[in-house]
Parts: sequence; C-alpha cells; structure tokens
Amino acid sequence: MAVLPAERGGWWHHYVCPAHGVELEHVGLLTGEFPSGGAPCAHGCRVDTADVRGAWTVLAHQACARAILAAAGGSPDERAAATALLREYADRYAALGTAAHNGAAGWMLRGRLFQQALTEAIWAVTIGRAARLLGDPVPELTAGLAEAARVARDTLVAEGRFRSNYTAWLDAAGAACTGKPEWLDGPHGIFAHVFAATHADGWEWEASTYYHSFVLRAYRHAIAAVPGVKVPATVRGRIDTMVDVLRVLVTPGGLLPSLHDGPYRRAEWDRELAELNTTPAPRRVVTVYRDAGYAILHGGGLQAIVDYGPHGGSHGHLDTLSLYLYGDGVPWQPDPGQVPYGHAQWRLYYASTAAHPTFSVDGLDQAECAGELVSVGSDEVTVACGTAYDGVSAVRRLALAPDGTLRDELTVTADRPRRIAAHLRPGVPLTVRTDPDGTVHTGWEPGLRGTHTASGAAARFVARPGPGPADDPQRTRTNVDWVAEDATAVTFRSTYRVGTWNPS
Ligand SMILES: [Zn+2]
Ligand SMILES: [Zn+2]
Repeated sequence: MAVLPAERGGWWHHYVCPAHGVELEHVGLLTGEFPSGGAPCAHGCRVDTADVRGAWTVLAHQACARAILAAAGGSPDERAAATALLREYADRYAALGTAAHNGAAGWMLRGRLFQQALTEAIWAVTIGRAARLLGDPVPELTAGLAEAARVARDTLVAEGRFRSNYTAWLDAAGAACTGKPEWLDGPHGIFAHVFAATHADGWEWEASTYYHSFVLRAYRHAIAAVPGVKVPATVRGRIDTMVDVLRVLVTPGGLLPSLHDGPYRRAEWDRELAELNTTPAPRRVVTVYRDAGYAILHGGGLQAIVDYGPHGGSHGHLDTLSLYLYGDGVPWQPDPGQVPYGHAQWRLYYASTAAHPTFSVDGLDQAECAGELVSVGSDEVTVACGTAYDGVSAVRRLALAPDGTLRDELTVTADRPRRIAAHLRPGVPLTVRTDPDGTVHTGWEPGLRGTHTASGAAARFVARPGPGPADDPQRTRTNVDWVAEDATAVTFRSTYRVGTWNPS
C-alpha cells in the first residue's frame, strides 16, 4: 500500500526547480525512496539537493498519511494494513520525534517529524482521523501528536500570534488526535480562533484565497473530529460566511482566483478544495468585502475584482488597486499567484508590484499599504490609495454599463513629475493594436476586447514579453506598461467587453 519514508521531513516549499521556478513533479511518494536520479522538473531538469530531498520527504509523509486514511475506511484487509502502518509511524515518531527538528530555519515554529510544526499538524490531522476510524490502535502516537500541537500552540499564543493560520491546524491536530472538545471550545480553541482570525466580512485576515481555504479546512476537520460537539450559532454563521467568500469568488466555470500568496494552480490545492463547497453562489452585480478590501463586479460575462485592502501580513502582495479580470472559465487578467516559497527570486517577483495589474511610479514597488473604499453603487465602485508612494494618490473607478461593458478609470496624481505606469498583466495571449489617434485596442484570447485611452498626460502603451502566472514562470505573456513620463497627473481609461475582436 505504501512504504513510509525513513527520514524526517524538511520544508515542502523547497520542492521547486532552482532554474525554472516550477514546482517539481510528485513522483514515487508512496515508495519510501526519493526518485533515483533526482526529482524531475517539467522543463527537463533533475534536482537532487538536501533541501529538495527534505521537501520530497514531506510530500511523501503526507501522501502516506492519506493512503493510511483511505485504507482505514476500506475492507478488513485494508484496515489491517492501515493499522500496521500506523504502528510503524508510532515507532518512527518515537525514534525521530523526540525533540524539535534541528534543521529548521530560524523563523520556523519547529516540528519534530518535520521542520515546521505546521507541516506536522497537517500530517497529524490525517493520522488522527485514520486512528479514530480504527479505534485508535496507536494511543501513544496520537497522544504525542496532540501534546506536540499543544506545545506549539502555547508558543504561538505566548508570542501574540494566536490568529496565525498555524493555530487553526494545531487545534485541528489536537481535535483529530484526541476527539476532545477542549480543542474547539477551550480558550485557544477553534471557536475563539474563528473570531480572532477572520473578519466580519468572512475573509481570513490575510485576505489570501489559499490561506482562507486552508484555515476553513482546518475548522471543518476540527469540528468533524469531535462528534456531537455543539457549535455556537455565531461560529457557525462566521464559517458559513467564509464558505460564501469562496462561492462568490469562484467563476461559473470553476476558476478560483488566487489572491495574495498561494499557488496559481496546483493539483494538491484542487484536492484540498474538493473538501469544501465551492459551488458558485448566485451572482450579484457588486459585492464589497469591506474588511479584506475586495470589490467584485459581475456582469456581461465578466468578473472584475479590485483589491484595495490591507496588505495581508507576510502573505500579502504589493498589489494595491490591482484589477483582476476573469471570464466564466478564463483568467484574462488573473492574480498571478505565487511559486513555492523556497525559490527566493521568483517569490520576490510574484509578490512585487511589477507582477500585478495595478499602477507603479518610477518603476518602484508600492509600499505595504491599504487603500480605501470611496463609494459603492448598484453597478459601480470607486477605491483609492494615497500611501502606495510618497506624494502620490490614485483613484480607480469601475462601472458596469447596462450593455455589459466594464469601464475602468484609473487616475494617478503626483506632487512632482514622475514616471507613472498602469499595468496590464494578461494570463492569456494578448493582441495589441494602436490607432493613429493613440487609442489602443486589445484582444484577450478567448473572447475579451479592450479599448484604451489616456488623458492628462501623454501615455505610451509599451508591450513586452514577461512572465505569466506563477504555476510556470517560464511561460511568457505580453505584459503592458502603459507609461506617462514626467507626469503629475494622468488618467488611464479602459473599457472591456466580452466578444470577439474584429480588427478591421
Ligand atoms: Zn527545471
Ligand atoms: Zn498577487
């Protein structure tokens, strides 16, 4: 069924090709052996370093735990095999998990079988679920995992980091390994975490789609692990609002925008999301999340998201006033997501202003900042930010016309002449055509067309090849910097309409 890895796990974010920035391929996870010749990259590399081995070992332990869980709900033979593997894990944890992992980076909250306590908690949830299905044949292991989770949680609480996404998984690990309600209703249990870590608008405080789904999954696992527990109506309501966030965000064709840190597209994330309800909610023309700072417009086959909210902590991106555009099943101008964090250069790029469809000044990154909601109507929203750059303010207004056209007006003003740019960052092939009067037409494959004019200052539409979304940084797209040089005020006006572009 599975051969358990003999080693302790490292940090999965190191499972990335140093040359190409793509996540390495998941191979041989149930064999107990790191792939001979190295972990393969989709671009042909084979990578074998201590970090990559440690990362592979994390993925292998997680895959083994899932195999055990699946077998624990299977036939008598499968259940016997699952019990045997759990006993093997009990021995392994007793041998390898006696102290905190000594290979962890300084910033990590250390685990025992893994570099990070968070990784260990995720693994422990699966192990705990399997153990409960089998009547807990490994009480010393489940008790040890719950105790490790408690120690790690106490450390976070002492550091004032209770609202961390880690805590949700540490509580879930405790609940899954013990079945005891204190991991839910205790002073630092899930019920308290729900209100510490999420906003009234339903978003997890980091305002990352990935971490939002991550924390929501931990809540669900924790609650499911304690049969008969009474979930307060307020907690239930907030969790329902969290679910609704995903259901509003997902497109009718099933695309879930990856806002802030998180994978752009990843099979593992799809598997995780399958645990949640991501059925698209009935569409409203305008939805505003006032705490997370997202406004979403739906209409004319378009889904537009403008990001004006708080930075989002260590998982935030320098993307204030970004405009993301999705069709039912197509990411015309998506948030590009993020690579595995072990790739320092690409991680920096995908968190940067340059990677996002926002505005920039003098080619510099925005500050970590928050914008504000200026107004919201039945078919329009206006947001602004005056803190992205010293002496610069920006206002972005989006309006959906009755005919389904989306109008986007971005005005940037500066206290001295600056190089002001509006960014277009397509996730699809883009065609650009400039008219003699300076009007620009864009075609976004398939099925979106744009018209672009600037006023207040002369602005050039500069197209150049650049990296596309983060699932493969080697895939180039036509990125556009729409640039006004030495400008103190410029307005960039675009209209977007779903339909075929006919460049006659
Ligand atoms: Zn490679
Ligand atoms: Zn981003």
